[in-house]
Amino acid sequence: MERKKAILLTTGAALLVGACVLFYNYRKQIKYYSNVLIDRAKLKLVGRTINKIIIHCSATKPNQACTVELIDQWHRQRGFNSIGYHFVIYQDGTLHEGRALSEIGAHCVGQNSDSIGICYVGGLDSNGKATDTRTEEQRETLKKVVAELKEAYGDIPVYGHNEFANKACPCFNVESEFR
Ligand SMILES: [Zn+2]
Repeated sequence: MERKKAILLTTGAALLVGACVLFYNYRKQIKYYSNVLIDRAKLKLVGRTINKIIIHCSATKPNQACTVELIDQWHRQRGFNSIGYHFVIYQDGTLHEGRALSEIGAHCVGQNSDSIGICYVGGLDSNGKATDTRTEEQRETLKKVVAELKEAYGDIPVYGHNEFANKACPCFNVESEFR
């Protein structure tokens, strides 16, 4: 009888621990997914090889309006089909989708076919001088986006536009921050 009791007690305790572990993981997963910035389904259905991430700035002054819609207009005026970047990060840290990930971007000559282009709003000080104007929120979002892209495509390298072209863009040292 005593033995039966002990077995029952042990089984009960094991079940309880198991339920707690499951619940903990479930909560963790919920928290993880509520923090995810990019829809994973979209990352999977990209339909082209992604080998690199290239970071840009919008080359706009602190008080200059710059939205996905505006960049879209600017790029169309330059003869592109639409906005050339896949993502734009506003000063408040919000992430905005530009060109669909499945489409080849138009953001870095010779490097578009296998890359994803991310642009943060800013890059110029009020005098128009190239400056790292990223807000704390923008840095945070950029880090997160890069992490999510690396999770989807493997440990692909992150470059600044200035590593492929004689430009200041994105006005900070991407290599020291991301590689
Ligand atoms: Zn650029």
